Amino acid sequence: MPARRPPVPGDGVASAAPDAAGGDGAVAFVVSCEHGGNRVPPRYRELFAAAQDALDSHRGYDPGALAVARQLARTLAAPLIAATTTRLLVDLNRSPGHPKLHSEWIPASPPDLRAGIRARHYLPYRRRVEELVAGAIDRGQRVVHVSSHSFTPVLDGIVRNADVGILYDPGRPGEVALGARWIAALQARAPHLKVRRNYPYTGKSDGFCAWLRRRHTAGDYVGIELEVNQRLVTPGRAEWRSLRWAIVASLVEALGREEEGRQPAFGT
Ligand SMILES: [Zn+2]
Repeated sequence: MPARRPPVPGDGVASAAPDAAGGDGAVAFVVSCEHGGNRVPPRYRELFAAAQDALDSHRGYDPGALAVARQLARTLAAPLIAATTTRLLVDLNRSPGHPKLHSEWIPASPPDLRAGIRARHYLPYRRRVEELVAGAIDRGQRVVHVSSHSFTPVLDGIVRNADVGILYDPGRPGEVALGARWIAALQARAPHLKVRRNYPYTGKSDGFCAWLRRRHTAGDYVGIELEVNQRLVTPGRAEWRSLRWAIVASLVEALGREEEGRQPAFGT
């Protein structure tokens, strides 16, 4: 057994089972939530003195994404790696060197400001997920990683035409198979929902899953990004509870089918 690691410093939500990816032996599940909250660590509060509107908006965090991630992790008995610091500090779903890794609220100088933020809030989070994924693969497991997000219903005046998006790389057969099954199972449970693949973003655009794909083969690593329309995030309402349940139960169903047809589904 590897030694128990401390939770990610400053990033809030530790996993219930932080030492190893959850799963049934052959498959390891990892659930992550890069945009789970809009918290500003005290030492950076001054930078956000005039940013409350941005912090409270979709630019500050992904409402609902953490609730879905928690439920997914609990149901799959998977480790949950989640951040509650705002993405306006540093965007955990962007690769190192991305021009928009930091928002306009974080000035480029002095240079050690951004470097310090990355050392405190970016690298530990990314490393934690990377280690879980690599550790499971080293033990001979296949990793199914779900990264939980939500999207604003209207962006730049354009109404997004979907309730749920399932994002994956169309060139990775395991992701195509799992994505298709998840969509079909969700659509069967909730026919009123508009569920789309690779929407509102393409599965291949920059993100944590895309980064991990470059490090692991399609046979070892299956990364799916879940995107829920924030219009449907209504805490305390029965509809929101049902939606979360439908998302989680349909993934479980999709994974069950995966077990039966594992080789073709996960083949490289
Ligand atoms: Zn997000």
